[in-house]
Amino acid sequence: MNKESVYGRKLEDLAAWLAERGHKKSRTLKVWDYLYRNRTADFQEMTDAHPEAVRLLAEQYTTTTMTEHTRQESSDGTVKFLFRLADGNLIETVLMRHPFGLSVCVTTQVGCNIGCSFCASGLLAKSRDLSAGEIVEQVMQVQFYLDRAGQGERVTHIVVMGIGEPFDNYANVMDFLRVVLDPKGLAIGPRHITVSTSGLAGKIREFADSGLNVNLAVSLHAPNDELRTRVMKINKAIPIAQVMDAMDYFLERTNRRITVEYILLRDVNDRLEHARELAELIGRMKRPMVNVNLIPYNPVDEHSQYQRSEPETVRAFFDALKKSGIRCSTRVEHGADIDAACGQLRSKQISGGGRRTSDGPASGGRHGELSDADQCRRSARQANE
Ligand code: SF4
Repeated sequence: MNKESVYGRKLEDLAAWLAERGHKKSRTLKVWDYLYRNRTADFQEMTDAHPEAVRLLAEQYTTTTMTEHTRQESSDGTVKFLFRLADGNLIETVLMRHPFGLSVCVTTQVGCNIGCSFCASGLLAKSRDLSAGEIVEQVMQVQFYLDRAGQGERVTHIVVMGIGEPFDNYANVMDFLRVVLDPKGLAIGPRHITVSTSGLAGKIREFADSGLNVNLAVSLHAPNDELRTRVMKINKAIPIAQVMDAMDYFLERTNRRITVEYILLRDVNDRLEHARELAELIGRMKRPMVNVNLIPYNPVDEHSQYQRSEPETVRAFFDALKKSGIRCSTRVEHGADIDAACGQLRSKQISGGGRRTSDGPASGGRHGELSDADQCRRSARQANE
């Protein structure tokens, strides 16, 4: 039987588990230090921790539930990892470098049930949720990679924007967040973490009430129900009005600005009338504290019905939003020289068309901006079809 990942357990859970076996909290804290401060992945190397407590933990838990299958390193410092899970499934994780720090984009599910029409992950149903430990371990694996490079670099930001709908795996994602937020552990600040959802309204409300104060991004991608249902079939079940109400609720509860993701598809949702409609939609919010993130679509084979908007169209859309008083930005791609869009690396490995991989540390080079939630997510193909 596979052991449970120790990274999926919160400090208080581990302390309670060890307390039931007669060990004081200070012993758990020592192990916690080893796990997250020293980043020791081998229980045998926790030599200053209480030996019996370590023995019990090693018997019950593991620090390794995945192995690195493939790694691609971009000249802009972006690194894409393909990990093989214990059950053979492959998942992707991406490290991105920014002027403000290093962020990791994590995957939360194997496949996805949301079925966005521009995303290959949505072509096949979710085969399973990732456990909290498997999500935390993606961050740890990237941190181990940085540690091996010996430059003293630390993961400072996390974006929950990889393959899967995080709120369709809500309990595990919440446990994951509590572990990485722990000030005695990785201590990633809530303002340095963003969770991106396709708009599961009920879960947005629950998230607002959670008190975690983590950033929220919502994928809208269209300004009206007809168009949004065409682009994202989830809109049939949860129409725009419900999403906007939930966003209002989130703002009321947290006072935190929301990022609205909008992928621009040529001649589908990128016209000026759509920009104006989007501005009106946002303008009707109780407190329109949002930043619209415009994402030029990156064409992939699986979705040839969509094309990338022309640069002048993107500019006009951007200007129209600005003119209407909407905060917005456009996103620049990361890792242009590797399989940048989420799922591409996995897809190519499965089909035998993998590109270069490297065993060395990431090479330095120019820095781009973070490839966004949906750039990062889209075009994934099920690894295990
Ligand atoms: S874009 Fe995200 S939510 Fe939509 S199908 Fe792809 S992975 Fe799922």
